[in-house]
Amino acid sequence: MLQLKTRAELLAARSAEKKSSCAFVPTMGALHAGHLSLIDLAYKNAELVYVSVFVNPKQFGPKEDFGTYPRHLDSDLALLDRYPNIRVYTPAVDEVYGPPQRKLKKMPAFCSWYCGASRPDFFGGVQQVLLALFDQVQPDNVVFGEKDFQQLQVVKWLLKAYAYPIEVIAAPVYREKSGLAMSSRNQYLSEAGKLQAAQLYQILSKMVQEEQTLPLEQVLSTARKALVAAGFSIDYLVVVDPLTLESLDVKKAAMQVLAAVYLQGVRLIDTVAFKLKKAF
Ligand code: AMP
Repeated sequence: MLQLKTRAELLAARSAEKKSSCAFVPTMGALHAGHLSLIDLAYKNAELVYVSVFVNPKQFGPKEDFGTYPRHLDSDLALLDRYPNIRVYTPAVDEVYGPPQRKLKKMPAFCSWYCGASRPDFFGGVQQVLLALFDQVQPDNVVFGEKDFQQLQVVKWLLKAYAYPIEVIAAPVYREKSGLAMSSRNQYLSEAGKLQAAQLYQILSKMVQEEQTLPLEQVLSTARKALVAAGFSIDYLVVVDPLTLESLDVKKAAMQVLAAVYLQGVRLIDTVAFKLKKAF
C-alpha cells in the first residue's frame, strides 16, 4: 500500500505511472464491506486502484454531523493494506481545496430534490470535492455506490458537464445479512436500532415485490404507514424515473424507489429497483 498525504505526493505518484489504467474510489472513510465491494469492482476494471479517504467539510450543513462523523484512519489503512499495490490518498482539507479552483457549474434541478431538499449544501459540496479529486487523481474509471442513487446521477452529470474522459462504474447496494444497507453512519445506531433499521429494506422490498398490481399511490401510502409503524420518521419516500429522477405518479416499466428516514436521530438512505414483471 502506498499512502499519499499531499497533492504533491499524489501528482508525483500519478506521473510515474501514466500508462497504467486507473480506477478511483472516493470515500469518507470509516470503511465497511460496502466500500470494499467498490474497491473489488475497481480492481476488475483497472490495473491501478486509488482510494481516497477524505471527510469533505463542504458537503455538511452547519447543523449536520461533520464534527462527529466517524474517523478511523488507522483501521481504514489496515483494511486497505490487504489489497495489492493499492494507493490511498488521505489529504488534509487544504490539499484538496488549495488553488487553482475551478468555476463551478450550475447544478441541474434534480440536485434540489430529495436529499438536495433536506440537505441544501450537500450536492454543491459533492460537486466541489469531486472536481478537485478528479482533477488531481485523473482516473480512467470512478466507482460509486448505487446506495447513494441521487449522488450517482450527480456524478454522471458532472462527468458530462465538465467533459471528463472518465467512465463511471456503479456498484450495487451492499447489505448486512439483515438487509440493512451498510453505511458508516450505522455505527451511530444501537444494536436494537440496527435490527429495527433493517425493516427499511424489508418495507422497500415488499413495495417492489408484492404490490406489482396496485396503483403507485396505494403502494406508497402502504409503505409510508409501514415505515411509521416500524418507528421511522420519513424524510422522503418516492418512486422515480431512474434516469431523470422525476417522481412518478403512474407506473412505468423501470422505476427506482428512493427513501430517506430517521431512526434514533440517524439519517438512513436506501434504494431498490422497481421493475414491473408485466405492463399494466
Ligand atoms: P461514503 O464513504 O459514505 O461517502 O461512500 C463512499 C462510496 O461508497 C460512495 O460511492 C457510496 O455510494 C459507496 N457506498 C457506501 N455504502 C455503500 C453500500 N452499502 N453499498 C454500496 N456502496 C456503498
